[in-house]
Amino acid sequence: MSLLATPITTLHDAHGRPLEYLRLAVTDRCNLRCFYCMPEEGIKYLPKSEVLSYEEMLRLVEIMTGLGVHKVRLTGGEPFVRRDLVPFMERLAALPGLDDISLTTNGVLTAPYVPTLARLGVKAVNLSLDTLDRQRFFEITRRDELPAVLRTFHALLEAGIQVKINAVVMNERNIQDLVPLAELTRDLPVEVRFIEEMPFNGGSHVATPESLPWHHRRIRQHLEAHLGPLVPAHTAAGATADEYTVAGHRGRVGIIAAYSRTFCGTCNRLRLTAEGGLKTCLYDQGGLDLRALLRGGTTDEGIAEALSQAFYHRAANGFEAERQRPTHQLNFESMATIGG
Ligand code: SAM
Ligand code: SF4
Repeated sequence: MSLLATPITTLHDAHGRPLEYLRLAVTDRCNLRCFYCMPEEGIKYLPKSEVLSYEEMLRLVEIMTGLGVHKVRLTGGEPFVRRDLVPFMERLAALPGLDDISLTTNGVLTAPYVPTLARLGVKAVNLSLDTLDRQRFFEITRRDELPAVLRTFHALLEAGIQVKINAVVMNERNIQDLVPLAELTRDLPVEVRFIEEMPFNGGSHVATPESLPWHHRRIRQHLEAHLGPLVPAHTAAGATADEYTVAGHRGRVGIIAAYSRTFCGTCNRLRLTAEGGLKTCLYDQGGLDLRALLRGGTTDEGIAEALSQAFYHRAANGFEAERQRPTHQLNFESMATIGG
């Protein structure tokens, strides 16, 4: 029987998790070369004809809102390297059914767009920042762009847009930066989230469980040794970060167990890659080729049906999704194509 034969307000998968949230990679291109995400050289970007057009993305988002999606996060690659992002966001903001449009950015090109983001009603921006030290920023991202990122950070704060800083925790690369980053929460109303490094680095380096020893418990212990107790705070349903308050701090600290995968039980999201591949789990190989359906003339109903089936049959968790991959070499994939 068709999953769409019964009226659906919110689609649920076979494990009872709702579909609410789409992470949309608008490009696979980027102006940084973060060590944990992609190699310094030799990156093969998609030909432009293989990237979904904005029209195609809007059509898919509209279909997804009919299945329960009400939140979209733009990501990439770096969203702001794609031309005409703002007109696209304007059209997205006008779609009925979406009540939350946000984005994840490296902040290099973002500062001039902050007033526009505020006008469009973007309430929160995730800003990736792994260190406050200019030399280490250069070593991690292979570009000398820390000042531009800090300009974005301050512009967002001044515009009243909620800022969540995403910092990837890298063994022997930025451990000395964790406390200074967490210290930003002392006086500023920001959330600083520490992310376990995952192996999706596009072949930048070989990442094994042994080379990724900074799991969420160790990150917490390290922070507590310097800041005092991290007190668990209320975390929204479907959130990936465990959030904490620190006595005397205005902001919050978060820890994302992205490699330990502790949050799969409440995962409410889909990922759409820049080339139109659907991922129902960060760790799956992808399966449904939505670009082929779009360009092959499939109706909206047909696409909705295919999406529903894919979501319904998603893996129970990231470990199952990883086991189901034909290849276990996760580091051949780059987070820039997955969308983070
Ligand atoms: N370019 C934008 C940025 O960096 O914010 C958006 C895309 S980026 C792929 C999205 C998020 O994924 C960033 O916060 C980044 O730090 C994170 N990320 C990338 N590679 C990662 C990895 N191997 N492990 C953990 N997080 C990663
Ligand atoms: Fe670019 Fe973001 Fe990947 Fe860094 S993490 S290389 S900024 S896509």
